[in-house]
Amino acid sequence: MKSTPKRILVTGGAGFLGSHLCERLLGMGHEVLCVDNYFTGRRANVAHLLNDPGFELMRHDVTMSLYVEVDEIYNLACPASPVHYQHDPVQTTKTSVHGAINMLGLAKRVGARILQASTSEVYGDPTIHPQTEDYWGNVNPIGFRSCYDEGKRCAETLFFDYHRQHDLEIKVARIFNTYGPRMHPQDGRVVSNFIMQALEGRPITVYGDGAQTRSFCFVSDLIDGLIALMNSADGFTGPVNLGNPAELTIRDLAEKVIARTGSRSELIFEPLPSDDPMQRQPDISLARKHLGWSPKVPLAEGLDATVAYFAQKWAKPVQGA
Ligand code: NAD
Ligand code: UDP
Repeated sequence: MKSTPKRILVTGGAGFLGSHLCERLLGMGHEVLCVDNYFTGRRANVAHLLNDPGFELMRHDVTMSLYVEVDEIYNLACPASPVHYQHDPVQTTKTSVHGAINMLGLAKRVGARILQASTSEVYGDPTIHPQTEDYWGNVNPIGFRSCYDEGKRCAETLFFDYHRQHDLEIKVARIFNTYGPRMHPQDGRVVSNFIMQALEGRPITVYGDGAQTRSFCFVSDLIDGLIALMNSADGFTGPVNLGNPAELTIRDLAEKVIARTGSRSELIFEPLPSDDPMQRQPDISLARKHLGWSPKVPLAEGLDATVAYFAQKWAKPVQGA
């Protein structure tokens, strides 16, 4: 799809979602400025874009001010996996909160429309199911996940205050678990962990009894949703859930990964991390209504594409197989 070319800033652009977003925006004919401090992202994720004259890559930490001229901003900078965001929790909160203040300040100065990559984690361990955007959440403010959850909640607050106080055009996406090629192989998230373990013939580490649920969205669907949201009617700010409502237990996911890789790995059960949400499923009625968006890629198809990526790029072959 071609549209009027714009100059678009993607923060966190060398990460998993960011790299797919940069690629898609370039394909639509836009100029893309990708900003990243490479905490969890990699230059390799965008190496194939470096020769595109519309692409520019800048090492920068969003907790510092940024002075550039752009028409739109997608603010994705923030580690997303529990292992990485808990590694330096103070930096995680700073990235969400100072990063939001800096990017909102930039948007205000240049009159840019700005989209925030928020998260289903703003609902915490939800007491309503599936989660709708009017639910305020059940979040522990002082736990191990709080640096991420509360950081993202505060970023949403800042977005809406800039909107009300300064008339800024904002869009807030609450992203549910998304997976696909270019996930970090060691980032500890469940899909990448299970696929790497299965491909390398190691035990599959199910935390708790595996009865907790998640709903997994393939990356191409999520990118469609982010772009639809950015380009939605002026008055529509969100927050809007973006995710795939197909919910399954973590144990089911482990079995599906074993089946699709043909692995001989066995399941082992490890302690459930604290504050691990027991169930999560997006209600996407709002996204359907305002964006005409819904995910298209079934889990089996998305898993096959992701398995192919990890097999080709990262997995060491099973000994003696
Ligand atoms: P990711 O870790 O692959 O990407 C995050 C990127 O941000 C990385 O490239 C990292 O180096 C960069 N970054 C981190 N701190 C930074 C800083 N201070 N300054 C500049 N760059 C910084 O994660 P992802 O899955 O691509 O997630 C992207 C965004 O989407 C995040 O904001 C995340 O919270 C949100 N999100 C993702 C999911 C998901 O399932 N993938 C779910 C909910 C929300
Ligand atoms: N999980 C698991 N084994 C792993 C990694 C994660 O059982 O090796 C579980 C985790 O406890 C959680 C779910 O899978 O219940 C999703 O974890 P992830 O870190 O991917 O994302 P979350 O939705 O918790 O942020």
